[in-house]
Amino acid sequence: MSIATDVASRTGSRDPGRWYVTTAYVSQTFVEGELVTRPSAVVHAKEMGTATTACGLWSYSWRKMLDLPFPLPVGAAPGAKSCPACLAKVIEEW
Ligand SMILES: [Zn+2]
Repeated sequence: MSIATDVASRTGSRDPGRWYVTTAYVSQTFVEGELVTRPSAVVHAKEMGTATTACGLWSYSWRKMLDLPFPLPVGAAPGAKSCPACLAKVIEEW
């Protein structure tokens, strides 16, 4: 699935797909032989064009992981845990 296709299929303003992962803590890990940056602690949900997380934290300087949707897909970042407050907010909009 390409990013362009993904964005085109997510046009509704109430679409949970607009949330992506942001985190203050990352580490480098190998995924299928490729070195990638992945969250290593708590991940929060963030919308494009905002400076705060779904739970209201200022996250301007945090790492934005546009390739990772929130909630994290199973196995996407084994060391990471989703923020319960962000999870509640995102699920509330489903
Ligand atoms: Zn959060």
